[in-house]
Amino acid sequence: MTLTVHGIGVSKGIAIGKIHIFNPKEIEIHQYCIPQQHLEDEIDRFQRALVTAHDQLRQARAKVPKHSSVDIVAFIDAHLIMLEDSFLTRGPVELIQSHQCNAEWALKLQHESILKIFEQAEDPYLKARKMDMEQVINRIQRILLGQPALSVTLEETAFSKNIVLANDLNPAEIILMHHYGVVALVTESGGETSHTAILARSLGIPAIVGLRHAPRYLQNNETVIVDGSRGVLLLGGDETILHYYQQRRQAQKDRRIALSALKSAPIVTKDGVPIILQSNIEFPEDMRTVKEVSSEGVGLYRTEFLFMNRSSPPDEEEHLEAYLQVIRALDGQPVTIRTLDIGLDKLEGKKVERPLASNPALGLRAIRLCLKDQKLFKPQLRAILRASAAGQVRMMIPLVSSFQEITQLRHILVEIRKELKQKSQPFDPDLPIGIMVEVPAMAICTDLFAPCVDFLSIGTNDLIQYTLALDRGDDAVNYLYDPAHPAVLRLIKMTIDAADQCNKPISMCGEMAGDGRYVRLLLGLGLRSFSVNPESFLEVKQIIINSQLAGLTHLATQILETGAHADIMALLERLNRH
Ligand code: PEP
Ligand code: MG
Repeated sequence: MTLTVHGIGVSKGIAIGKIHIFNPKEIEIHQYCIPQQHLEDEIDRFQRALVTAHDQLRQARAKVPKHSSVDIVAFIDAHLIMLEDSFLTRGPVELIQSHQCNAEWALKLQHESILKIFEQAEDPYLKARKMDMEQVINRIQRILLGQPALSVTLEETAFSKNIVLANDLNPAEIILMHHYGVVALVTESGGETSHTAILARSLGIPAIVGLRHAPRYLQNNETVIVDGSRGVLLLGGDETILHYYQQRRQAQKDRRIALSALKSAPIVTKDGVPIILQSNIEFPEDMRTVKEVSSEGVGLYRTEFLFMNRSSPPDEEEHLEAYLQVIRALDGQPVTIRTLDIGLDKLEGKKVERPLASNPALGLRAIRLCLKDQKLFKPQLRAILRASAAGQVRMMIPLVSSFQEITQLRHILVEIRKELKQKSQPFDPDLPIGIMVEVPAMAICTDLFAPCVDFLSIGTNDLIQYTLALDRGDDAVNYLYDPAHPAVLRLIKMTIDAADQCNKPISMCGEMAGDGRYVRLLLGLGLRSFSVNPESFLEVKQIIINSQLAGLTHLATQILETGAHADIMALLERLNRH
């Protein structure tokens, strides 16, 4: 019998593989009393567990692939260093002695007191280390309890050719799993534009989110089929079903090959209007895919991924090296480097572990966090300015919602330019500074803000989240996520029109730009510049070059005046057939 489970397909593609359940249940720890004469043995047992943890981590370290795009070794090293800390080497030993308790219980008590210290810390990096510490403690507990280690260091065998099922995954975990050859991702929570989903798309891993209660039906090592386009997971498929999906998988491959014929075609509509089409990237390594599709540059470089899987932020030189890598690969084509956007689900661990504001989406995120923590921000700004001497660079600021933020940024940049001049470090004095339009306030006031910046880019992932008041990562409200909602479309239209009137270049780099269903609608609303994930690039290009602009405006305007979803969908269908 075939079991079909439905979720939200967020990254296209078909995968067939074995399930690997990534977040097993919490381990239960019980207290028991150790007689005085056995205390030394208990301490010995604890210390042997530390040695085993060391060995496991060293083995994982030795298996790290050479050309990893993130510093996995540094990630493992951070765990190894923690294992040497007296918090873990001495603290639990003292507790075993003073409480005459078992090692697991002593470690649990020690864990609780470490947590308090981390919770009091203000520094976001300390908070990120909290997750590392928890993973290290979990590893030791599992050794003590004789349970298999959690895949926190992501051992290759657990992921290679497998389909990962997890409650949720943070981007750091996805990147590491990708390195080890995971073939699909399935999560119980998450939404269409959660960063998990975006990352899966950009890495080309088929993914389904919002598969609530999936662990109830699935077990480790069961073979399943993941259809990322339709958001369907199938278990127990017979030969016929398997054959059908193998054929579809082949058809998708064939389509990709067919699309690659478009690589060298100019990006011009049927009626001769040139359109700018660029790519979004997360890592310098993504440039390989960008080059493969012959993109005209990078319209969004999400730099926050430089900060992941490490215990301290990158310094100026590390930033610079990453940017130069992208610039060199671009060979004269432009790149828009977006400054750090953390504070939501990007750097932190899983939702429950976020020690952030009660509503992180409305809290200290992106430019807000950067302006508050300038020690974090300035090395990046300096590096972007220095990188600007080496290529066509633009700097883009996320989540701007007020005039002050732009003014404050400009002041900081004046200071930095002065410092760079003093050190005779070259930079482009005219480095274009742009803002993302992703807060409705900004969209409504584009006419007021556009004159103060050099360019704008619409971030629909957040614009939709804030306009429709729904958490982009929460599958419980995902049914409300609707890029074609008239409120969203009106804001997009207002933004494009206002930017055009101010003669400021306007682009869109949110996921909507790369979603084939909306490309013609956006063209009809007046958008002439798109930045999309490289996996969607050729598909979007095909739609653009097969579009006739005349006629699209009329239908798009009609959609702006339509309230009922079904009517909007009918008009959209007409527009896409146009
Ligand atoms: C957006 O919000 O649309 C966007 C491109 O930024 P991010 O998805 O990184 O928040
Ligand atoms: Mg955003």
